[in-house]
Order: sequence, then structure tokens, then C-alpha cells
Amino acid sequence: MSTNVPDGLPDRIRHYIDGEFTDSADGATFGVLDPVTNEDYLLAAAGKKADIDRAVTAARRAFTEGPWPKLLPRERSRVLHRVADLVESRDARLAELESFDSGLPISQALGQARRAAENFRFFADLIVAQADDVYKVPGRQVNYVNRKPIGVAGLITPWNTPFMLESWKLAPALATGNTVVLKPAEFTPLSASLWAGIFEEAGLPQGVFNLVNGFGEDAGDALVKHPDVPLISFTGESATGSLIFANAAPFLKGLSMELGGKSPAIVFADADLEAAINATIFGVFSLNGERCTAGSRILVERAVYDEFVERYAAQAGRVVVGDPRDPKTEVGALVHPEHHAKVMSYIEVGKTEGRLVAGGGRPEGFPTGNYVAPTVFADVKPDARIFQEEIFGPVVAITPFDSEQEALALANNTKYGLAAYVWTNDLKRAHTFAQSVEAGMVWLNSNNVRDLRTPFGGVKASGLGHEGGYRSIDFYTDQQAVHINLGEAHNPIFGAR
Ligand code: NAD
Repeated sequence: MSTNVPDGLPDRIRHYIDGEFTDSADGATFGVLDPVTNEDYLLAAAGKKADIDRAVTAARRAFTEGPWPKLLPRERSRVLHRVADLVESRDARLAELESFDSGLPISQALGQARRAAENFRFFADLIVAQADDVYKVPGRQVNYVNRKPIGVAGLITPWNTPFMLESWKLAPALATGNTVVLKPAEFTPLSASLWAGIFEEAGLPQGVFNLVNGFGEDAGDALVKHPDVPLISFTGESATGSLIFANAAPFLKGLSMELGGKSPAIVFADADLEAAINATIFGVFSLNGERCTAGSRILVERAVYDEFVERYAAQAGRVVVGDPRDPKTEVGALVHPEHHAKVMSYIEVGKTEGRLVAGGGRPEGFPTGNYVAPTVFADVKPDARIFQEEIFGPVVAITPFDSEQEALALANNTKYGLAAYVWTNDLKRAHTFAQSVEAGMVWLNSNNVRDLRTPFGGVKASGLGHEGGYRSIDFYTDQQAVHINLGEAHNPIFGAR
């Protein structure tokens, strides 16, 4: 057993179905490890189809018979605000558990806990401000939109910033009056188990929130294929997204997919180089590089390329790798030994594809645990695997360009299209480039700082549909059109005498 275990953990991580913690129907469990010792510290219930069936039945009952979908928006909003208050008041504990379970540096885990509270507060506010369309045809018709929750939403989430990403789906799904079954990632089930207590205290009715732990191919698959789950909101790898898309097709489900990325940061010679270096260092090394919107390809204009690479490599070498629990740590331990092995294998590939200028493997002084030194490859060609494939760790590829046109071609030269970051002081170029780059989200002279009202999502292999602000409300609701005749009934008369 791991020796770092925080105090006060339950004896086991269980499912939460219809207001009760419960084991799997068949009693199956799986080991959960902490990424510093790589030793199992707890067992979690391994959900399968029978457990998903129970959870969906409870959620379905809470939807058809319970008060939640019919409450006034203000009443649901109050519950959501209480959730936000509780998450805020427990931010230190949440950060402690999240950091322990996922290897995220504690200071960044704390930021993510507060962001989770903010997601609830945001949708609590949005739902009471929601207005729906009315269309008037003078003298003839009034047509209005009757917005309705859809039913049981299936929420499937990844292991990077797990609690925050769960909040991102839970908040709009619940605000709009749906009931939910959450299937969190199997690498990091610990923080998700706290939702049950938070929701109970906040006054969410029984059966509205249900949680089933387990593997994607068992619990996740059963949720996707359950006929009483009309909506699936998924965040994870692009390959998993395609599989879920295919599995959901026979049921014609509503799908929202937030998938992988290989986002470019483009640095023009006229940019504020100091700001660009600080931002691009943070952009790929924060959250251990396990970040969907990481700027993991940096394209730099030739005139400043050598200076950029030299300064960037030196700064990457100063990034503090350490125990996730230490507040000074900037890069902690990767989530799991399997993921660590994958990132390390990309570093070996990178050594044959680019010029290694920082890092390059396990950092000194960390013989065990899933640690990776912040790693920088320069002179990376666009056909290199480390330029094309998502590594999802603290590894970055830097490539020079000579013209705006070439920069755009390089930026667009991957299957992904999640985010892009453009660094230039030329106003016209900033906007023309931003509008041409194939990315769902673009930041100009900025790191990834999100306004929760804006669309979030990717194009190409990075996703399907956009959530964020009112788009999330749209995803989790049906907009029924109700047509009212004001004048005389206007019918072409068939079969007239
Ligand atoms: P993953 O695709 O392996 O797993 C994600 C979730 O899907 C897990 O809960 C898993 O159990 C489940 N799952 C796996 N197979 C399934 C199946 N057949 N049916 C149903 N569910 C299944 O992803 P991961 O490794 O946990 O997360 C990392 C990936 O997530 C990266 O590619 C990253 O870019 C992406 N991501 C994207 C965003 C975004 O907003 N675009 C945000 C965070 C992470």
C-alpha cells in the first residue's frame, strides 16, 4: 500500500446510485494507484452493465417522477449555488485529494477546484437569465420556443483535471433539469466520489446524480449503449470519441465530443518575446502537460528563432519538477505508469526526429514515480511523429518558419484543431491569421484564459459540437416549437363540396 495516503479516505471507492453508496452487482473492484509511489492505495468498485442499468433506472425515475426537471430555474439555481459554495469551502481538501490521485501540482489542483465551483456558479446564473425566442407573424401567428430538459444525460470524463472537467458537464446538465449518470476516468476516481456528499448537502433530490466507476470498455460502453440515455457528453481521446460515435449511432443519440489536440503557438518576430516565452512555457508544462489545449507545437519566425530556442530551453530547464504536494512544484508526476511509459517512448522517438535542447527523460533525483523532465525538441519537421501526434505530457516541438503563409500551413498541418495561440503585435495579421487557422479556439497574445460564456470545442479530430455558455444549455435541452394561430384557421380545403 502507498505510504503517502491522505487522512480520512473511505475504505473503498463505491458507486453512488439513487442516493446510496453501493458496490458493484458482481462485487468486482480495481486497484487505484498514486502516481508518486505507483502503489495501489485503494480499491474502487468496477462497474459493468448491471450497475449502469441500476443507475440509469434511478436517473430515469428521478426525471419522470421527481421534482428536479419541473422546478423553477431559480430553485435549481439555488441548489447549484450551494454546490459552488460547498466546493469553494472544500477547495483545500479537494486539491489535496486530486493532487494525490492524479499527480497534479497542488497549487494547480487548487486552481482547478475553484474553477469547478465557478462552473456551477456560472450555470446557476445563466439558467435564471435564460430567455427563449418568440416569433410573431403580425395578425396570424405567435410561435414560441418551449425549452425542455432531455432526460438522462450520460457524462464520460477523462483523468486530466478530473473534478473540474466533471463540473463542466454536471453543472449545465443539472441546471437545465436533466438527471445524470457520471462515469469518471478509471485512473482518477477519488475526487469524483466527493460529488455525492456535496450534492446531498446542497439539496439535490435523490436519484438526480448517479455515479458509476469502472473501465471505459465496461461501464462507459454500457452507458453509451443504454437505450434510455439520449445524450452523451464525452471528453477524452479522439480514437475513443470515434468509437463512441459509432456505438451511439444505432440509438441516434445527441453527442458532444471534446477530444484531443496538438495545438500550435505561433510566434512572429514582432511579438513581445518575453511574454511569448513565459506563456508558451506555461502553455505546455502546466498541468504536467496533460492538457487538451496545450500549445505543444511552437512555430517561431526565423528572425527570432535561435534566440527563442535558446531562451526557451534555458527556462524549461528551470521549471521546478517535484512532489505534487509541494506548493513550489510546477510539474508533478504523470497520472499513471502506462501514460508515463507512453510519454517516455515519444521522447525516444523525438531524439531521432529533432534536436533535444532541454530535458529528455526522467529528471535527476527522481528514480521512481511518474516524473518526466520538461522536454524541448527544436528543428522538428512537420512530418515528425512528435509534431503530428498528441503526447499529453511535458514535451514540446519547436519548428521555424519564414513567412506568414508557411506558418499557417504548418499550424494547420495536423489532424487536430482544438486551440491556437498567436503572438504578434501586427493587428491586421493577428486577426487574419486567427480567422484562417483551423482551430476551435484562438488566443491572441495570451495564454489559455477562458471566458465561460464563449464557445468551447475543437474542429477536425478535436471534437464535435461546441459547449460553453448558452451552447451548453442548447446541448442539454430540446427546443420545442409551439405555433399558435391568431387569425382564422387558414386551411387549403381538400375534398371541398
Ligand atoms: P480516454 O479516451 O482514454 O478516456 C476518457 C473516458 O472515456 C474515460 O472515462 C474512459 O473510461 C472512457 N472510455 C474509454 N473507452 C470507452 C468506450 N469504449 N466507451 C465509453 N467510454 C469509454 O481519454 P483519457 O486518456 O482519459 O484522457 C486524455 C484525452 O482527453 C486526451 O486526448 C485529451 O486531449 C483529451 N481531452 C480533451 C479535452 C477537450 O476539452 N477537448 C479536455 C480534456 C482532455
